[in-house]
Amino acid sequence: KKEKAGNAKAIKETGLGLTASVEDDFGAWYSQVVVAGELIEYYDISGCYILRPWAYSMWECIKDFFDAEIKKTGVENCYFPLFVSAARLEAEKDHIEDFAPEVAWVTRSGQSDLDIPIAVRPTSETVMYPQFANWIRSHRDLPLKLNQWCNVVRWEFKHPTPFIRSREFLWQEGHTAFTNKKDADAEVRHILELYRRVYEELLAVPVIPGVKSEKEKFAGGLYTTTVEAFVPATGRGIQGATSHCLGQNFAKMFDITFENATGGRSMAWQNSWGCTTRTIGVAVMVHGDDIGLVLPPRVAPLQAVVITIPNTKMSKEDTGRMKETGQKMTASLLAAGMRAKLDDRDNYTPGWKYNHWELKGVPLRCEFGPRDLEAGHCVVVRRDNRAKETVKLEDLPTRLPKLCEEMQADMLARATKKRNEAITTCTSWDGFVAALDAKKMVLTPWCETKESEELVKKRSMDDGEGGAAKTLCIPFIQPPLEPGTKCFVTGAPATTWVIWGRSY
Ligand code: AMP
Repeated sequence: KKEKAGNAKAIKETGLGLTASVEDDFGAWYSQVVVAGELIEYYDISGCYILRPWAYSMWECIKDFFDAEIKKTGVENCYFPLFVSAARLEAEKDHIEDFAPEVAWVTRSGQSDLDIPIAVRPTSETVMYPQFANWIRSHRDLPLKLNQWCNVVRWEFKHPTPFIRSREFLWQEGHTAFTNKKDADAEVRHILELYRRVYEELLAVPVIPGVKSEKEKFAGGLYTTTVEAFVPATGRGIQGATSHCLGQNFAKMFDITFENATGGRSMAWQNSWGCTTRTIGVAVMVHGDDIGLVLPPRVAPLQAVVITIPNTKMSKEDTGRMKETGQKMTASLLAAGMRAKLDDRDNYTPGWKYNHWELKGVPLRCEFGPRDLEAGHCVVVRRDNRAKETVKLEDLPTRLPKLCEEMQADMLARATKKRNEAITTCTSWDGFVAALDAKKMVLTPWCETKESEELVKKRSMDDGEGGAAKTLCIPFIQPPLEPGTKCFVTGAPATTWVIWGRSY
């Protein structure tokens, strides 16, 4: 309450800040915070957004980490064209059936219609694999491990949301081929583990790694693994990133065969895996508060901002000394490897600056006023819990990196606690929809049939208020399944535990 009142005052005083709150109107809050925090700008084509440096820089952090990790396993980066012919796109039947409604087509150039329309890639399996067929001749050509950092276009018909569901988004897509299933399986899991680390180690967002149901798996693939995140404010699950084993389906369609070690012909085993700018939106939704963004220090474009607070009674000499010391403080943080900046602009008040950087979610603020100048210290304020600490200037380069790590760990711990509290177990239909309505995910014993998933979709749609539930994933870490356990919805023998939720 106090924070809210403080915020309302700040809005009045500075014209900065948010008018919607996380609790009262999450949708409005989110669309305000991504703009006010200078992550994006809306654009005149629905579902397309301008990523400003503040957001792009977070994407670069994710990219740097993931790119270095995949290169350790021999993945090479490359680039394939944005456009794909209808013939290629339609080669794998299940694949195109799922993607068809979202494919954007170019039908005209200037004033003349194209003889044959061309599609904009929604993903690049069909763009790349005809080439794979040419490059893979012998078992010695395998494994082939390619990745590209690019944009794709999916003309989503669901309501678009910045980062979370956009029509054009940035991602990496990895496409690999192996001689055997075992190696393909191992890679699927290794990549998924990297995605888990992106969420948990970089973004401080807990995820549940698991397998998608048959209904939810990637179209045309053999099986899909996923890391599922959760947004407590709306009680919705969200698919964080996916690592697919494509099996030999695409290899069959695109004739990706090779001469095996015994001289015969074999078909390649393939994987594809992707992680998008959705990551940023999930972190914003999980950590943000009524004041603005709260950025996890490891991906924050700026980790600390030094704000000098000169006062009019100070001598000219002291004012100069304050500015100089502020520069030195910032330099010492930069030298310690931190992303830091001095805000000594004199056309803004300190209050305005505090609000500005809080709205943008900078993890640490160093307040440096006249008394601090005399004492040789500054007051450091954490963005997540607003805890204040007085730090001697010479200790800044050792203490602040530690504070960042403490904040990063606390953010993950808080988000994990909330997420864990939002998982309910149901062994029958009783209480299932009530749990969803209470913004929970539900863990149930399940018979794994498509029909039961349809049934849950229909019943949760009819009974509840917030739309249908679907399976989020079959978690890799399973509670024990006692013999004789029945599926919570069909009563048939249960074969696994699965997590259901409303989702983005
Ligand atoms: P897919 O190739 O369909 O497995 O997608 C890879 C990942 O992209 C998914 O796991 C989602 O996290 C993410 N994703 C899917 N659709 C969108 C979208 N419209 N905007 C942003 N991210 C998306």
